[in-house]
Order: sequence, then structure tokens, then C-alpha cells
Amino acid sequence: MLDKTYPYYLANRPQQPNADLEVRDKYSGKVATRVAVPDARAIEKAIAAASRAAAPMRAFKPWARQAVLEHCVARFTERRDELAMALCIEAGKPIKDAAGEVTRLIETFRIAAAEAVRIDGQTLTLELAPRLDGYHGYTRRVPIGPVSFITPFNFPLNLVAHKVAPAIAAGCPFVLKPSERTPIGALIIGQVLAETDLPRGAFSILPVDGRHAAPLVEDERFKLLSFTGGQVGWDLKARAGRKKVVLELGGNAACIVDDDQGDKLDAIVERLVFGAFYQSGQSCIGVQRIYAHASIYEALKKKLVAATRKLKAGDPKKKDVFIGPMIDEAAAERLHGWIEEARQAGATLLCGGRRQGNMLEATLMENVPRDAKANCLEAFGPFALLAPFDDFDQAIALVNDSDYGLQAGIFTDRLEHAMRAWDELEQGGVIVNDIPSFRVDNMPYGGIKRSGFGREGVRCAIEDMTEVRLMVMRRP
Ligand code: NAD
Repeated sequence: MLDKTYPYYLANRPQQPNADLEVRDKYSGKVATRVAVPDARAIEKAIAAASRAAAPMRAFKPWARQAVLEHCVARFTERRDELAMALCIEAGKPIKDAAGEVTRLIETFRIAAAEAVRIDGQTLTLELAPRLDGYHGYTRRVPIGPVSFITPFNFPLNLVAHKVAPAIAAGCPFVLKPSERTPIGALIIGQVLAETDLPRGAFSILPVDGRHAAPLVEDERFKLLSFTGGQVGWDLKARAGRKKVVLELGGNAACIVDDDQGDKLDAIVERLVFGAFYQSGQSCIGVQRIYAHASIYEALKKKLVAATRKLKAGDPKKKDVFIGPMIDEAAAERLHGWIEEARQAGATLLCGGRRQGNMLEATLMENVPRDAKANCLEAFGPFALLAPFDDFDQAIALVNDSDYGLQAGIFTDRLEHAMRAWDELEQGGVIVNDIPSFRVDNMPYGGIKRSGFGREGVRCAIEDMTEVRLMVMRRP
């Protein structure tokens, strides 16, 4: 299903000087395709082209930006199956999850198409005193100029979409560096963008290794760096100079199940299992810590273990497979090591725990010590821990006892507890009556603490990529 080779994109045009990067099928381990890799000169050309494209992109009218985004929506819809299979191969993403990600890619571009024609300003009242009679103020948002994007492996389409689509809507030329482990999604987006009449230089897509991406971080011609990935993001921010920086980093998301939920456990377990194990837990808002009230803890545990044991693992191309491979063997080995470490420190394994290559079983544990890595770091794999709480204060304290703060979930019918969770949980978002893994692409999304800096979601991203320009007018 994949092409034999893929070019990179420099100033809107495909470039195929080599096919140096092997992209493997993450399940079979075989080379699935090869990708052309730009050198340092090509990176410099891309940045220079983006700089030259700033003015033409600013002049590229909102209706024209909208038309580009609508073209993408139509073409992604036509190429839906191909896109899903590409994700399945390059990321080892189960085909159902992959199809879901394609839907979100399309939705994200659709939202951006709508937003492209409503980037509005304000009318200001300036007549605050007699000396200001006749003065009026108006603002509009203008594109900030060239922007640079770096994206991770786990959502090769939708996390690229969350940067690229708002940039087009806002009128900013961009240089994107997708994950070198999963570059194909971004390169197919490049194929579609190359069909449009975006001004020359409006986009470059450079699948370079992170070690060679310094210009995307440090070059002062970029006005914003938007990074999604791991904790290395904080180092990049320190090197980013005067540009704006948005960081979308990891988490160890928690979910509270309150004492009044005893009659809803089946539905809750279905959501928790999904949240913990979809795409083998490789999601920044995957459920990692489950805190259930002591009165329902044993019943919830029994159901969770039974449902987890039923999950089918294997070839992600098969429709009934829920647990596919992790991105590579090192990632599975790391998490497996944490599970063993927790076990040796007194944790109880409830199910799973075994590894073969990059396949790790869906694993549940309890009694995980507070300082075990499996509790306090980001698992980013098919793992969740359970712990009981006795009162709601304790539940809040358990969730907050983390260096991360992306999203948390709470199942409760108590309005008071929902409101307290929203007030007191140290998170970018609180999801009431669903898992922390809930995300719709128009909502503000991002974390606090080690989880990030700033917010994505199409409208928030457009705000970051534009700035307010004021005009004051004095009546003649
Ligand atoms: P990663 O940090 O290893 O890589 C992310 C990107 O950064 C890749 O493109 C990589 O090549 C690049 N990179 C790495 N070092 C770099 C450097 N020194 N200079 C420039 N670029 C560099 O992350 P990953 O393993 O691809 O993805 C997993 C991480 O991403 C997890 O921590 C996960 O939680 C996080 N994530 C966060 C969100 C979010 O929206 N908050 C979404 C998805 C993933």
C-alpha cells in the first residue's frame, strides 16, 4: 500500500536526492518504504524560502486559505484507506485506531477551514476622557510570519494537522520536522498540499533526525516553535531565543471513579480499558493511574482485569486486534523494566506483564509504590495502575501527586465533586464522566507542570500564529 520511496518537500516541491531513511513496518520489522532525507543546505533553503513566503502568505486571502484547507479535506477523505494503512504500517497502530486518526485529521482541517474566514479583531472605545474625543481603536490579527514545527511518532497525521492546518488558516509559512520514526503521514499531507496554489515557500516538510534539527529550534527567522513530544521540549525552549514557544509534552494521566458509580461500572470499565490500552497506551493522555473509591474498588478491579484479559493482541492490520506493537523494542523494554522494578518494590501484577520484542501485554498493577517509575513517570505504553481512596480529598491529592498535568478524568454524579475537580486538579483539562483521553480537535488542549507550555486546538493555535495589530483613528 505504501509507495516504494517518498520525497521530502522543500518550498512546496517534492525532492528526491536519495532514499536514505528506512521506515519499517513496526509489526513485522521489515523495511516498508524509504524516505529522502534533506541535508543541512536543504534545511537552510527551506528556512530562507519560508522567510520569503511570509509576505505572499499574508497577502493570500482568507477565502484562498480556506479553499486550500477544503481541498485537503476532500483529498484526505478520498485517500482515507491509504492514510489509515500508512499509519498502521509505520506506527504499528491498530487499523481501527488508524481509521479514527484519519477521521480526526479530516476534522482538524475542516475546523481550520471554518476558522480561516473568522479571524476577527475588536473595536475599542478610546474616548475615556474629553482630551480623547474623536479617537477610535480597531484591532485585527495578522500572521506572525514563518513558524517551525516538530512532531512525535504517535499521531503521525493528527498532531501534524494540529500545526499545519492552523498555520495555513493563519497565513504563516511553515517548516515541519515530523518524527523520523513515522514520517509517512506528514509526507502524504505534503503530497496533498503540493496540489494547491499555496504561495511558493509556504511549506517544507523535512524528515530529519532530531539531532539535525537545531535550525528549526534556534533560527531567529522563525517567529514560533511549536513542539509536541517528550521532555526534550524544555531544552528546546531554552535554546529557542526570542521566538514564541508552544510545548505539548507527556503526562501520566489519572482518572477518579467516585463512590456513587457502583451501578455504572461496566460502562466505566469499557472506557478505562480503551483509555489505558488504545494504540498500546502510546498516547500522552492514555489512562495510567486509576483511583477508585474503596467501596467499589474490588468490584471495579475484577471487571477491569477481566476486560483487559479479553483484549486481542497481534497484527495491527487485523480488524479485531486491539493491542499492537510498541514503536520499538527499546520502548517496550523500558516499560517492561519499570513493571519489574515496581514488582520487586512490592507491587502486585493483576494481569499482563510479559514482553516479546516490541509487543508488551496489556498490564494492570496495584500497590505500586509512590516513587516507582511506573507511578511517577510517563508509562507511554499498555500499562495502568489501580489504587483505592477513602475520601475525595485523598483522591484529589493522589491525582495532584504528579509532576505532570495534562488532563484528568472523573466519573461522578456529584456536582460538588465535579466542580471541586475542575477547581483543584492541577491539569490543563478535567473531563467529567469520561476518561482523560478524551479529545475533540476544536477544544483548547495542553498541559501544565512538566506536561507543557501553552495550548493547542485549532483556535488556540491560530491565536499563537497571529498577533494583534492596532490602528488608532482620530476623526479628522
Ligand atoms: P520525542 O521527544 O522523542 O520526539 C519528538 C520529536 O522531537 C521527534 O520529531 C524527534 O525527532 C524530535 N527531537 C528529539 N530530540 C530533538 C532535538 N534535540 N532537537 C530537535 N528535535 C528533536 O517524542 P516521541 O517519542 O516521538 O513521542 C512521544 C512523546 O510525545 C511522549 O512523551 C508523549 O507524551 C508526547 N506527546 C505529547 C502530546 C501532547 O499533545 N501533549 C501528544 C503526543 C505525544
